[in-house]
Amino acid sequence: MDFKVGELRSYWLREILERDPGQPCPPLDHDIQADVVILGGGYTGLWTAYFLTEYAADRSVVVLEADICGGGASGRNGGFCTGWWDELDGLIELHGKAAAIEACRASGEAITAIGEWCADHGVDAWYRKSGFLEVATSETHERVLQRGAALAAEAGVGEEYTWLSAEQVRGRCNSPRFRAGVLMRDGATVQPARLARGLRRVLLERGVQIFEQTPVLSLDERPVAARTPGGTVRAGRAVVALNAWAGAFRPFRRRIAAWSSYIALTAPAPERLAQTGWINGECITDVRASVHYFRTTPDGRIAMGGGGGQAASANRIGKVFTHDTTAVERAVATLREMFPAFSDVPIEAGWGGPIDVSPTHRAFFGTLASGAVHYGLGYTGNGVGPSYLGGRILAALALDRDDRYVRLPLVGLGPKLFPPEPFRSLGARMIRMAMLRQDDADERDRTADPLSRLIAHLPRRMGYQLGP
Ligand SMILES: Cc1cc2nc3c(=O)[nH]c(=O)nc-3n(C[C@H](O)[C@H](O)[C@H](O)COP(=O)(O)OP(=O)(O)OC[C@H]3O[C@@H](n4cnc5c(N)ncnc54)[C@H](O)[C@@H]3O)c2cc1C
Repeated sequence: MDFKVGELRSYWLREILERDPGQPCPPLDHDIQADVVILGGGYTGLWTAYFLTEYAADRSVVVLEADICGGGASGRNGGFCTGWWDELDGLIELHGKAAAIEACRASGEAITAIGEWCADHGVDAWYRKSGFLEVATSETHERVLQRGAALAAEAGVGEEYTWLSAEQVRGRCNSPRFRAGVLMRDGATVQPARLARGLRRVLLERGVQIFEQTPVLSLDERPVAARTPGGTVRAGRAVVALNAWAGAFRPFRRRIAAWSSYIALTAPAPERLAQTGWINGECITDVRASVHYFRTTPDGRIAMGGGGGQAASANRIGKVFTHDTTAVERAVATLREMFPAFSDVPIEAGWGGPIDVSPTHRAFFGTLASGAVHYGLGYTGNGVGPSYLGGRILAALALDRDDRYVRLPLVGLGPKLFPPEPFRSLGARMIRMAMLRQDDADERDRTADPLSRLIAHLPRRMGYQLGP
């Protein structure tokens, strides 16, 4: 690899910033007042600001971003714009069938809506709706997908999660590793940073005040006051949209666990892509607990992500989220194994970022006891599509508006907490190693050693919807 992991912004962010750095948003340097102050300029914060301007154009909205908009996970992710149909079992378990299906439908509608929003606002985010494939690379994983497809059929939504034979999967993307799969027609890809920066541009046009390089140091709940190095924003309501960084704020410390994820990106090789038959742009994941996710770009690259990130120590977002060369090398090795046609295609970029893992494996939204601070967190690596819904929910909460979105089952959930430190970090490290061993054994159609199996299944036994 002739680049250094951690030195550069993601390829996506560099690509758009070189083309269009956007209007400057200097740091806050005085005290101000607003109706709503939003902490974090990723998709969650930006969609919230967008829906506030839609629902109540007269309200003043301020976004405070420690870095630049899209500098966090929203400008670094894989660009899978997917919903929750693959989460149907967990949703049914927690909320019952009707509420689970309603949440999945809303998540699917969000995917279509993002494409329409890009078209309406002249944002070229490379949006392409070609479906989302989950593929089995072992016998165990085939059984997992079969169960999922049977559950969807039983729930009357079989068309949303359809079984594909090995031949059908390979007809879409011919990897020797694929043994079967399921297709979710709700699934698109985007150039993630273009979406984040496009949102930023639209918000500035609508009069939202955005302050970049402006970290919030502390947040008072009532009256709301967000303190930054250069000034304080006093507001009627605050929205916390800080992804894994929220773990630094006391109310969220045990509600999320910060986990790293990394992506490797090849040089363009459209002729090699054609050899694999992967020409329609489906986004694809495998079924490992340490999931691999992969997609193509319009110029014929493959981006391969995941494969077993690491947990933060005490939720601190440090170098483990940006400088883990081993994680990129692992992604490259998987890419070459999965796609032999790409065995000698150079790798042009590799980068990482933090994921906010929630105990339910899905985002949750709500309001702190003071009534003036709302939050949307816990996307667990699936926030590109769901953050659009998150923005709708959080804007409605901040305006005391009652609608279909605030009644979704992911709003106002009682907290299921992670264990306190140091048990969480130590436990996460042990569980990660055990999950990797179990995943690797599964892929060789072997059984992992009993201790690894026991530890890998520990989260489920403790009531978390995480792991195998
Ligand atoms: C490598 C990687 C790959 C991923 N792939 C996918 C994918 O393919 N599909 C998918 O759906 N999801 C994916 N995700 C997850 C997805 O990117 C997130 O769920 C989504 O971007 C969340 O948006 P957000 O606005 O909540 O968080 P972010 O975009 O992280 O925004 C939070 C912002 O808060 C800012 N901030 C931090 N501290 C402060 C502070 N004190 N004051 C002010 N601002 C602060 C940060 O700089 C950041 O910009 C991936 C994530 C990573 C890291």
